[in-house]
Amino acid sequence: MSVYVQLLDAAIRDLEARKNNGERFVAVAPETLGALASPVLRARRAEPAMTLPKAIVPATPVSPPAAASPRVPLFPAVQPPPPTLTSIARGDRSAEFAELRARVLACAKCPHLVTTRKSVVFGVGDPNAQLMFVGEAPGVDEDRQGEPFVGAAGQLLTKIITTMGQTRQTVYIANVLKCRPDTAPGERGNRKPRPDEMATCLPYLLEQIQLIQPRVIVALGGTAVEGLFGIAEARITRQRGNWMDFRGTPVMPTFHPSYVLRAEDGPDKGRATKRQVWEDMLQVMERLALPISDKQRGFFK
Ligand code: SF4
Repeated sequence: MSVYVQLLDAAIRDLEARKNNGERFVAVAPETLGALASPVLRARRAEPAMTLPKAIVPATPVSPPAAASPRVPLFPAVQPPPPTLTSIARGDRSAEFAELRARVLACAKCPHLVTTRKSVVFGVGDPNAQLMFVGEAPGVDEDRQGEPFVGAAGQLLTKIITTMGQTRQTVYIANVLKCRPDTAPGERGNRKPRPDEMATCLPYLLEQIQLIQPRVIVALGGTAVEGLFGIAEARITRQRGNWMDFRGTPVMPTFHPSYVLRAEDGPDKGRATKRQVWEDMLQVMERLALPISDKQRGFFK
């Protein structure tokens, strides 16, 4: 990883830590604001040896608010040009990923979500992963921790991934929507993301897919299928287990882990649903030519 990317990551982690500590503003010098507004990052992609622009060197950002410095939101509204799957040239994936991550963390395209979110849940895992899992949106636990699939459903997803012989570090996990759908004050639980919200955020997922270039995507649940493909109503009970194609990348739709957890209340304690999900994952493993042991094949026989 280049020094540039390490420093950019350090700056992002510092800003996230500040935000988690309740800080909503940082002091930024006028010349820094000017530098951030310029297309310097994109222009530097083509340079063989990147150096961190002085504007975001993390050695100086923690300076106490200067009287002359204007106070700006920690995550100011940034309106990047709408990306497409073919708009990004291949190159240093780490640098591209860090730049995309910085843009997404600063996103304010959905004002109603910006005011209620605790974090922007970008994604987690290996930017070079062959296998990518896509869910619908962060829930309350993910919003709190800034990482996708960390609640009860996330623990089940982690179990599925490890049963496949992988880890959360060897795959990539993201959601269509990067911010938690807001709920009414005092309302518990999570809300299903709306089609317009997913359509607004989808360009970021497209960029992630373009950079990662996974060989297989697993769409977790009907809402993820709807958001990814831009369709009105997915029939996940019919579509699961049947390969789909997303701009040349095979997609395996399967049940969302939370659906599997709810099925555990049924008469068979969710065994049939779990078997279906596992059959889908066996198809994924075969497609990726991953080793499959007899034990893995026979889990639900
Ligand atoms: S949901 Fe997506 S588009 Fe909307 S504010 Fe969050 S990151 Fe931006």
